[in-house]
Amino acid sequence: MALFVLLFLFCHVFNLQVSSAPVSNVFKHLQTASKFWHISDLHLDPTYHVTEDHTKVCFSSKGVPALDPGVFGDFLCDSPYQLILSAFSYMKQVDLQPEFIIWTGDSPPHVPKEELSTDVVINVIANMTRTIQQFFPQIPVYPALGNHDYWPQDQFPTSENAIYDAVAKLWSPWLNPAAVATLQKVSLLIWGRHLNRQRTSTCFMQRMPFQLQPISGK
Ligand SMILES: [Zn+2]
Repeated sequence: MALFVLLFLFCHVFNLQVSSAPVSNVFKHLQTASKFWHISDLHLDPTYHVTEDHTKVCFSSKGVPALDPGVFGDFLCDSPYQLILSAFSYMKQVDLQPEFIIWTGDSPPHVPKEELSTDVVINVIANMTRTIQQFFPQIPVYPALGNHDYWPQDQFPTSENAIYDAVAKLWSPWLNPAAVATLQKVSLLIWGRHLNRQRTSTCFMQRMPFQLQPISGK
């Protein structure tokens, strides 16, 4: 699973095909850009650690023995932080730099509901937000929540709550004030319901709220 994340990060440098159809102001940035990265499903597992008891390497293996755990993960585990750092380090120094990044969330690990909480989900999203900001401070980022970015997962509520509020604050450097206000209130109602219905995992076009427009390369 961790290997999949790594490959996913490296493979998603796209050449954007732009149609001649009119687009709204929201997508003007997309209209003129030629290259971007799509980061998704980092699924950080903070419990990952290499130990002789392979049933205890990561909570995300749900008790199944890890196959060959190492510093950068195991096939049966979600991503250790070292794997994410390694991927971002490569992305930062590679020649092909994007004009913007689309980040479609899903930061928490695949673990039973009891292993997570609202605070843990916020902490994981905050960790990933700060990591992306530290690695790519000059690249505009278009963020969106994935179905795992709530606790319990897939249960986006139709009202303001601690997670929407925290995420709006965390992402405010990337968003204009109107987008932050929207994120704190209503845009995710439809978005969350859409996610629950479609159960999307990696398709940014289904996840990306059109309201979330970066205002600069912060
Ligand atoms: Zn996912």
